Amino acid sequence: MRAIREVGARAVFDSNGIPAIEVEIVAEGGVRAAEAAPRGSTTGEFEAYVLEDAAALPTLAAVAPALASVADLVRPALIGRDVCDQRAVDTALRELDGGAWFRRIGGNVAVATSMAVARAGALATGRPLYRHLAAARPSRLPVPMFNIADGAVGSNTVYTEFLLLPTTREPAAALDQGVRVRAALAARLAGKGHRCSDSTQGGWSVDLGGCEPTMELIVSAAEDCGLVGGRDFHLGLDLSGAEFAGPAGYVFPWSANPLSTADLARRYLDWVRTYPLTFLEDAFAPTDEAAWRGLRERLAGRAAVVGDDLFASDAERIDRGVAAGLADGALIKPNQVGTVTQALDALALGARHGISTVVSQRSGENASDFITHLAVAGGADWLKAGGPARMDRVAKFNELLRIAEELSREQPAGETEAASGGRR
Ligand code: PEP
Ligand code: MG
Repeated sequence: MRAIREVGARAVFDSNGIPAIEVEIVAEGGVRAAEAAPRGSTTGEFEAYVLEDAAALPTLAAVAPALASVADLVRPALIGRDVCDQRAVDTALRELDGGAWFRRIGGNVAVATSMAVARAGALATGRPLYRHLAAARPSRLPVPMFNIADGAVGSNTVYTEFLLLPTTREPAAALDQGVRVRAALAARLAGKGHRCSDSTQGGWSVDLGGCEPTMELIVSAAEDCGLVGGRDFHLGLDLSGAEFAGPAGYVFPWSANPLSTADLARRYLDWVRTYPLTFLEDAFAPTDEAAWRGLRERLAGRAAVVGDDLFASDAERIDRGVAAGLADGALIKPNQVGTVTQALDALALGARHGISTVVSQRSGENASDFITHLAVAGGADWLKAGGPARMDRVAKFNELLRIAEELSREQPAGETEAASGGRR
């Protein structure tokens, strides 16, 4: 037992310059750790609530209600608890809130507290965070996938993420592939007269007039590196379907006309036939269950149908959705659900169902490498942490390199499955 001695909080900024709450835990023996809440830009209707004074954005004053929640509610509930008992702390946070989506204490408060407790618990035990969070020594590592390009704000692919999925099981080789294709894509973009700028998630911010020309250019850039689609890499898309769903169908800016779910499914099938596309995230709005099921059946394993907003990292939603045949993959973002234990439970459930699990960043991030440890501890198939640029993204990938090195030192080569391309 290492008792929590102090729970403090401060307002900081995230990678998009938006104020966030950072919670700091002090435990017996002088252990001290802090974590800040990440933030999504496309937030699903089923995800944990952000407690803030929206009228005060973008100043730090927006964090005042979250600071009050820590001081008045969370601090008294956690002081004296065992910092190493993550499940008990997270249960206490849920009971303290007493409702759904942390509307009382704030999902941002819950996740920052939960992650800071996990960090402090790991320090208290002297173990790496991924070992502290895992029941057993990890037997494999997640494969990094990259936001190689993101639709530029104001372009007709806004909110579309273009993902590069290396097939190698080796983290360093996957990262090398990410940076090589990123550089080759910059050269291709320059050749077409496009100015290159970073997207907020570390990919190239692109405005190429649609999904098809963007996928084509990425495949060409990969070929410039000697890589073959389907052999060395696959492509993924995050469509953020909920952002474009309306009463007249899906009004994606890249399509001349509104698309019915049947039109949209046909378009996706066409893309899967044309490109090495094996990962379709949030292809529809979460409420469009028949469309999810239909697409999954028609793709029949050729491409994974992956739920982000659909599941909002919630084990019960994943359980129900997978049983109903809606998807064969799930994103896990701790701030969608509110605590580290819930995120780990969702990962364990995904593994039991045999679906692909993807631990993911949010677009508003910080320099923390917490999600890398979560992905390793939870046995995730993939780590989706943005493009291989900007420290808020690279910090996560670099930590994967360190963990890979540590695991290979502990065990003779060959005994550890370095990583897996997922269950697809
Ligand atoms: C995503 O949708 O997968 C994502 C990382 O973006 P955001 O966090 O903005 O929802
Ligand atoms: Mg998404």
